[in-house]
Amino acid sequence: MQPIYGTAKGFVRSIRSFWPNSYRLVDCGNVGVPRSELAPFRTQALICGRIPDDAGYRLILRLLLDLSPEKPIASLIMPHSDLPRTLGALRASHFVDQLQPDRTLKEELRSNLICKLDRGEDLFPGVMGFEDTVIPQVVNAILSRHNFILLGLRGQAKTRLARMLTRLLDPRMPYIAGCEIRDHPLRPICRQCREKLAVMEDQTPIAWLSAEERYIEKLATPDVTIADMIGDIDPIKAARTGQDISNELTIHYGLVPRANRGLFVINELPDLAGKVQVGLFNIMQEGDVQIKGYPIRLPLDVMLVFTANPEDYTARGKIITPLKDRIGSEIRTHYPLTLSQGIDITRQEAWTRRRSPIELEIPQFIHEVVEQVAFLAREDKRVDKRSGVSQRLPISALENVLSNAERRALKAKEATAVPRILDLYAALPAITGKLELEYEGELKGGDAVARELIRNAVGKVYSSYFDGVNLRQVVQWFELGGSLRLDEEMPAQAMIEQLSRIQDLLHSTKKLGIEEDGSDAMRASAGEFILEGLYAHRRISRNEELEFVAGERPAREERGRDEREDTQRRGFDRQRGSGGSGGGRRNLN
Ligand SMILES: [Zn+2]
Repeated sequence: MQPIYGTAKGFVRSIRSFWPNSYRLVDCGNVGVPRSELAPFRTQALICGRIPDDAGYRLILRLLLDLSPEKPIASLIMPHSDLPRTLGALRASHFVDQLQPDRTLKEELRSNLICKLDRGEDLFPGVMGFEDTVIPQVVNAILSRHNFILLGLRGQAKTRLARMLTRLLDPRMPYIAGCEIRDHPLRPICRQCREKLAVMEDQTPIAWLSAEERYIEKLATPDVTIADMIGDIDPIKAARTGQDISNELTIHYGLVPRANRGLFVINELPDLAGKVQVGLFNIMQEGDVQIKGYPIRLPLDVMLVFTANPEDYTARGKIITPLKDRIGSEIRTHYPLTLSQGIDITRQEAWTRRRSPIELEIPQFIHEVVEQVAFLAREDKRVDKRSGVSQRLPISALENVLSNAERRALKAKEATAVPRILDLYAALPAITGKLELEYEGELKGGDAVARELIRNAVGKVYSSYFDGVNLRQVVQWFELGGSLRLDEEMPAQAMIEQLSRIQDLLHSTKKLGIEEDGSDAMRASAGEFILEGLYAHRRISRNEELEFVAGERPAREERGRDEREDTQRRGFDRQRGSGGSGGGRRNLN
């Protein structure tokens, strides 16, 4: 493949001369070659907005080969210096197609989205679990040119999704240089720009914005004012320029006008005062606002995206009705629907691939227990349903769990660190702060609630691996008077020595996918997990010295208890749908 440097028009010419008939040109970067111009070609090519680095270039190569493995391909790499800097040059360039009157911001988002759908691109890479639920609705909202609201509890990737909408913007957008509200080069709305245009005509300087610069986000709070959001009369400016106070030259613009021709995201919309909501509504409806009683015409071209907690949003009186009416789509977000989906998200987001002198390894069952804590917390009566349990809980818990293992290995001068269940108890600081407790939970205390959640999570994950597995020998060892104190600081080798005293225990780690020739750290973690599992199911217990000891009930009751636990667990799975026990469980027999 031969990269061709230059302008898009020159590129199209080259393509035409190299490969006259048999290719298709794919406009990947929305750089501004109009589709009509591309249509006559059957050339596979990529138009790229900026000079990519090596990794980027390899990615482009792969993409192109995917598109057309057998045909020769070309790509265009267009440097920034090609961007026109005056209105005259802009008019003469292909960028003028971006400036057609019917190409409003929402039309721009729509046409770029159609382009991406057409190419089968991943629209929101890295956002997991929304593929069949939230994303299709967001796509529909954009295709419908709606302003929309994302309704969901804490930590449901709402803001992240909103930020990714910048991917649907043109990579670069021209505006009249120096304009605070990024005026359209052909249809400026502010008077300064209109005057500039009348005087300078084709010499009017043009500046450019990247897609990221066209994204503005604001967290709504009750003290946000009309002046913050829309603007204020600037009496000093008025006095200095000798203008009438109602003249638009004397406005100090707020956030929404400064987001003109871009995306404006307001988080927690219901916290916005009624008066400010009215102002927003006026902007969305008519482009007319009143600032301190002076009517100001501001026909802005913005896309408004809101986020809110569903209960706040539906509560009567929190949102003024006309504003609600103008929000085209209400889209509900959600927490991961299955444990395995949650694990994938946590795995992606948690900072676990870190540079460390220690080799870090997280067993699958630890991933499952950490995620299960969040799932149980979301169902727990003592946890406030209204605020939810953010996905940030398992993410920061996992980070903390790994750090505790890292700390232990550093102290013991071990080469490998593998987290254990005790490390999860050590990660309470990363958990309790993320649980909003109801009164009942407050009485019990955050620590106690979190400990119970961990224990129950261990129990559930344990059942999914050891259902029907005979561990009577392990239990018997304790019933015959054995006791064992496992310390979170205990090095792996010492731990293995302790655990191997119990017949059959380390042998059983096979069920967790850990063979007897595995590393000490891994086997220690697996052995400890089995004991914690037996403890969670009350087959053994833990005394005041934190030693594992025999359970309170005699052994012969065990059979019946196993069956009861089994039915309880199945009931739980039915409630959650198929994925409740982790989706695609491997070791269930
Ligand atoms: Zn302007």
